[in-house]
Amino acid sequence: MHLTTLRTGIAIVLFFFSYFISAGVLAKDGFELAGITTQTGEKKSFMATRGDIALPVTVINGKQEGPVLLLAAGTHGDEFPSMFALQKLREEVRPGELSGTLVLLHLSNIDGFHANRIALNPKDNKNLNREFPGSAGGTPTEQIADFLTKEFIAKADYFIDMHSGSANQQLLDHVYSPFVGDKALDDLTFEFAKATGMQHIVMYGDRPRDPDNSISFPNTAMTRGVPGLTTEIGHLGQYTEESVGYAVQVSRNALYFLEMLPGEPGPHSEAVIYETLTSAKSHHTGFFLPGVKIGAKVEKGASLGKVTDYFGNVVETISSPVAGTVMMINEMPAIKEGQSAVTIGILQ
Ligand SMILES: [Zn+2]
Repeated sequence: MHLTTLRTGIAIVLFFFSYFISAGVLAKDGFELAGITTQTGEKKSFMATRGDIALPVTVINGKQEGPVLLLAAGTHGDEFPSMFALQKLREEVRPGELSGTLVLLHLSNIDGFHANRIALNPKDNKNLNREFPGSAGGTPTEQIADFLTKEFIAKADYFIDMHSGSANQQLLDHVYSPFVGDKALDDLTFEFAKATGMQHIVMYGDRPRDPDNSISFPNTAMTRGVPGLTTEIGHLGQYTEESVGYAVQVSRNALYFLEMLPGEPGPHSEAVIYETLTSAKSHHTGFFLPGVKIGAKVEKGASLGKVTDYFGNVVETISSPVAGTVMMINEMPAIKEGQSAVTIGILQ
């Protein structure tokens, strides 16, 4: 056979091969996660396992075509409202009405959850949200991060990491809209953040742009081209009907925005965009006694609270470094020199 004819023949074969490959991808198919396939139109709850890791997951594989949305709770084991919200979504969302695939990661840091630990995993005292993209041969937390990067983020088109204020932290509900210098991705992520319907939106560009040093769960998504938000809903280590219901509503708004469920997303009519957050830190070690309320508007220099020594003598009045809104307050009295006492949101 003449070489040109051979080349043309190969090209035709390759063309049909790639056509069938893409047709296979386009057809609604089973969704595989950690070796377990959830068929089209099926809802499946299981433990996603690798080595010693076992994470509770529900996959709802919709009957119609659509994106893959990953919602994760319990990256920090003491942040409960989103854990209950994902259980409600598991009950409520029917595969027959869903376009695309909804992956609910019910609890990432199970050991922290059972140890009632603020943020950390007791197995290595690490904060999962600082160990991405992780390492398969690393410490327990690094192994979970690696599993989440390779098995969950790799299969998601959109991601929301759902947090709350821990037992030590009062906060104003807000959503972080990260940006990484990729205009199309950053714009889409901002639209996604607005579509959650949350009123307070914090722009966030502080994380590395390097996928090999992505640090946090949502930044692992962003550095891989996947819009990744963080929501903060509820606080003080508590869960209320209101905070759980709000986390469900925010999740549903995301599903409406992605046209995965029929419905209209409800961007907040009075959305407030913050350029960044800044911390008012204590210069002393002792007790912090807050003097402001969450959501309060403060001027630069306004008093945010007092620090006393162990005997009760006032050693410092903490003043606001900027004008802005009180977004987070350290509610437990214990404070160390250099620790953030109050976090202020600076308006855009
Ligand atoms: Zn958290």
